[in-house]
Amino acid sequence: MTIYNEKQQEIAEKISPNARISNWKDWKWQLKHSIRDISTFEKVTGIEFEESEMESLEKTIAKFPLSITPYYLSLIDTEDYRNDPFFKQSFPSPSELIIDKYDMKDPLAEDKDSPVPGITHRYPDRVLFHISNICSMYCRHCTRKRKVGDVDSIPGKDEILKGIEYIKNTPAVRDVLLSGGDPFMLSDDYLDWILTELRKIPSVEVIRIGTRMPVVLPYRITDGLVAVLKKHHPLWINTQFNHPRAITDSSKEALRKLADAGIPLGNQSVLLAGVNDCPRIMKKLVHKLVQNRVRPYYLYQCDLSEGLSHFRTPVGKGIEIMESLIGHTSGFAVPTYVIDAPGGGGKIPVTPTYLISWSTNKVVLRNYEGVITTYKEPDSYEPVFCDRNCRDCKLQLKLEEAEEIHAIGIEKLLSDYDDAISLIPESTDRIERRDKLEMEIRS
Ligand code: SF4
Repeated sequence: MTIYNEKQQEIAEKISPNARISNWKDWKWQLKHSIRDISTFEKVTGIEFEESEMESLEKTIAKFPLSITPYYLSLIDTEDYRNDPFFKQSFPSPSELIIDKYDMKDPLAEDKDSPVPGITHRYPDRVLFHISNICSMYCRHCTRKRKVGDVDSIPGKDEILKGIEYIKNTPAVRDVLLSGGDPFMLSDDYLDWILTELRKIPSVEVIRIGTRMPVVLPYRITDGLVAVLKKHHPLWINTQFNHPRAITDSSKEALRKLADAGIPLGNQSVLLAGVNDCPRIMKKLVHKLVQNRVRPYYLYQCDLSEGLSHFRTPVGKGIEIMESLIGHTSGFAVPTYVIDAPGGGGKIPVTPTYLISWSTNKVVLRNYEGVITTYKEPDSYEPVFCDRNCRDCKLQLKLEEAEEIHAIGIEKLLSDYDDAISLIPESTDRIERRDKLEMEIRS
């Protein structure tokens, strides 16, 4: 297995003349020698920028920091770097300084939906817990550019404890997503402590971790880290491969270790102009992911974060990609294409249209080949109206402590759960939490 190739050897020697393979595969060595300024980038890659360009590059990294692991740098094709997907994802572009009319610092309103620092509580039963705000590599397309990389606001133990306390006091939360920054920037022991504290909370059923380490620094997935993670099942991990060439022997090894530890793996790609806005690239990517036991989970429309306009594609590009996947390849290799609602409404799935028309007893559909077909609905159907009155229902729910009684959103309108015949967004739980928080801040 090629874990160390000639190009990597060359990069390692340019960074540190005495470097050996053991250094290259040491994640701490990689972090210590990450490329954080343009002149080191030039020295290591042999690429030279014009003086006029240097000025705008310096301005860009003054606003959004630069950090590229030597490993990720080795993926860049220096002969054609301007078109290279890894160069585009890791190297600053002066276009990041362009702020469009619709750009926002915090497009997903994560800070507004934050009842305590570090926690974003948007959906009813799950929270996002920011336990780190640093990463091994700063992705140029990061949606959290506003805070990722800011060493002055790294969450301390006190802040983490407040987040844990909030989760403890909010039993509706059954799913905790650890994110950041990258949670795997924390030490094994510290992560172990956080996971142990969360596991003590009876209402927390699952823990998820969002990390880009298998992509940008696969050597972080050490046997020691895996041993820690294994203790805290059920634990899920989502990563972010955006291009099939990022699935190298080293990242395959990292994925293998995680999958062998019984951790279900998912991938959340971001649709990026000039990187992966191509049906063939995306199909290759999803195939390589499932070969490595990673389920393609989401394909994200690029958010409206400041400085990302050059990465955005029209939504039609995403639909075109989905059209090329659905039916054309295995269902479990097809991600859900989503737009994360600007303003904080959560992920909204977007798909090509397959339901062409319908009448009272028949629907007309089309498939991926263009076949138009009909599905005959039953002439007699004893309606089951789910009014959430499970005790009187003939269907055997019979679940202990079933929490399904509470209905919100469109689900509520469909179920006749209460008298509501329309939805007024101001009355959602989320907005109420926001209002309460704002009132607390004011008082
Ligand atoms: S690893 Fe994630 S949080 Fe960190 S810079 Fe990349 S996209 Fe942002």
